[in-house]
Amino acid sequence: MRTALLALSHSKQAQGLIVAVPLSRRAARRFVAGETLANAVEVIRQLNSQGITATVDYLGEYVSSEAEARNNADEYLRLLDAIQANGLKAGVSVKLTAMGMHVGDDFCFTNVRRIVEKAEQIGSFVRVDMEDAAVTSRTLAIYRRLRDSHPCVGVVIQAYLYRSQQDVAALIDEGMADVRLCKGAYDEPPTVAFPTKPEVDQNMLALCRQMFDASAAHAADLQLAVASHDDQIINYAKAYAYHHGIGRDRFEFQMLYGIRRDVQLALVKEGYKVRVYVPFGTAWYGYFMRRLAERPANLVFFLRALVGR
Ligand SMILES: Cc1cc2nc3c(=O)[nH]c(=O)nc-3n(C[C@H](O)[C@H](O)[C@H](O)COP(=O)(O)OP(=O)(O)OC[C@H]3O[C@@H](n4cnc5c(N)ncnc54)[C@H](O)[C@@H]3O)c2cc1C
Repeated sequence: MRTALLALSHSKQAQGLIVAVPLSRRAARRFVAGETLANAVEVIRQLNSQGITATVDYLGEYVSSEAEARNNADEYLRLLDAIQANGLKAGVSVKLTAMGMHVGDDFCFTNVRRIVEKAEQIGSFVRVDMEDAAVTSRTLAIYRRLRDSHPCVGVVIQAYLYRSQQDVAALIDEGMADVRLCKGAYDEPPTVAFPTKPEVDQNMLALCRQMFDASAAHAADLQLAVASHDDQIINYAKAYAYHHGIGRDRFEFQMLYGIRRDVQLALVKEGYKVRVYVPFGTAWYGYFMRRLAERPANLVFFLRALVGR
């Protein structure tokens, strides 16, 4: 089922059918702040009032024209203006395939650098999301170029990839380990990714240890965000940090908008930093399909919404 839904997430035909149904849009609202910047601002404001910060994603991916990629970057500049104008506690999350990676890496770098420079000016932050394994090395290379002169940039490492412990070790060595750890949301072959959930979970725990150990050892320039809704991962991170003398202010938990809101609030109450990933925009199809793929119950919820029950 997961593989089928992830395959559908790339199908233009399925996209046309699903996006055309008004009830789909309503169902997507469970995971997406809305289609407009004003919708996103409203959601961030609510989160901030609950002690939660945000990282905001202007939805879109895999663009192939310079014009589209520039438009996407312009939307991020408007978003950063809105964050500043409204005094919001928020950074942004950016997908490099939305910034023109398929046009060319230099073009993509220059385009995304506009966002990074703006974020730097207003004291905000840019997280480079990680997409499918075909672009992992190129994403890390562009991240390194950005991070070289802009400390307000971080990246994402996916626990399902075999390479991730090596990538984290290299980033720590280079003083560039501002990392969001997640399990990984794309459909990857067993040649590059652990095929079973227990293996992915074990690697996620190992990566947490790797980052926490480096944090305990020295690195003031190291930042860790544990991005998971999984109690096993969350409880492990809490316990490991506690036993290694790493304060609650030295890492953060991240979750997706609309998922496990009770846990988000409970963590804030316990004194942990919590950031929620807030996607907005009209290009919600791929993001929505990945959320359905993560949990069969979400598919049932969606099918019910479609038949109006
Ligand atoms: C802030 C954030 C940023 C992310 N950025 C990236 C990225 O850049 N690249 C990338 O590949 N992936 C990204 N992901 C997605 C991530 O890789 C996983 O696909 C996703 O978080 C599900 O994994 P999990 O750790 O929550 O654990 P799972 O084992 O999948 O889930 C644990 C429990 O969480 C709940 N849950 C999980 N997913 C859902 C859902 N969709 N709906 C309802 N409940 C759910 C369920 O109770 C489930 O039992 C991100 C996730 C987060 C939280």
